[in-house]
Amino acid sequence: MPEKSTFHEYLSQQSRKIVNLPDSTPSPSSFTADNLNSFILEKIEPDTAYNQRCKAVVNRLCHFMQNNFPNKLRPSEVVKSGSLGKGTAVKGKSDVDLVVFLAKLTTISELREKLNDIFDRMKLYLNKYAGCKVIGTTPYAVQVSVNCHGHIHSVDILPSIDIIRKKTCDDIYAEMETRSEREKKYYSSAFAPLQVDFVSQVPTKVKNLIRLIKYWKKTEFEERTDGKRLPSSYILELIVIGQWGKVGKPENFDICKGLYHVFRAIADYRSLRHAWTENYKYNNFVGDQWYVVDPANPFNNVMEACDLWDHVAEKANEFLQSPLIKGLPSFDGWV
Ligand SMILES: [Zn+2]
Repeated sequence: MPEKSTFHEYLSQQSRKIVNLPDSTPSPSSFTADNLNSFILEKIEPDTAYNQRCKAVVNRLCHFMQNNFPNKLRPSEVVKSGSLGKGTAVKGKSDVDLVVFLAKLTTISELREKLNDIFDRMKLYLNKYAGCKVIGTTPYAVQVSVNCHGHIHSVDILPSIDIIRKKTCDDIYAEMETRSEREKKYYSSAFAPLQVDFVSQVPTKVKNLIRLIKYWKKTEFEERTDGKRLPSSYILELIVIGQWGKVGKPENFDICKGLYHVFRAIADYRSLRHAWTENYKYNNFVGDQWYVVDPANPFNNVMEACDLWDHVAEKANEFLQSPLIKGLPSFDGWV
């Protein structure tokens, strides 16, 4: 695959090759799946050695924070979230979220009050770490970039508090109920361990589907979108898992058909309605037209974190016109 060709172009080329094949070759559907599978193996699925090298680099940063941060910032634990933590990383393109549970803080209100000070101190110490460069801050994270064997990981470091191990989820959700919309957002990173568990448990094939969709996002959209926000990796993970759940969570399925159904769902995002009952049994968004509710946080409709859905839907529709999809013998089911 040449450097500059997009995922869409690559698959179109592959499909064109299929179209030109003589009649005696295997059925187009299986051949298409084969090409897609080799694409996954070669370009998408991080091989173990690659994965281990990335993990080692990230672990070094975690280790640095655990051993070199001053007592006020001392982490009780660092949770690896993002693609790398959840096992849905795309080769050379994985972003990392590191949730740093601060041992010295106990409430989210306290965290919110001290957050700017925490950011300043963290930046000071992170700048001393040779392998990482402070890029800036978001409302909830310090952003750094880490060089890793010829590629760069952008890492969000999110200070948080380990409330989920001190209280039950029900108690935390009840507490959140009394907080303003703005304050509720400061709870988000505390739920990272639950989010990691939720996404990590899906079978490899579903993870590969997630990787393909993320790869599509990385190659089809300009990174800068004039302050507008593209769907996060987590939204895409949840949409894939939601659509897969709707058809009964098949362990094995045709990845091309999976792609078709996920892109159909994205193209028709106003019909998306996903909620899960792993951590709570009610749905705060049941009256809304469309929603994908964070399985770890009942107050978070992840769809709201993107304001480019029409543009994303347009791109998904384009993909649905590709020869790969057009060549599918049937559009029913995933198997
Ligand atoms: Zn790496």
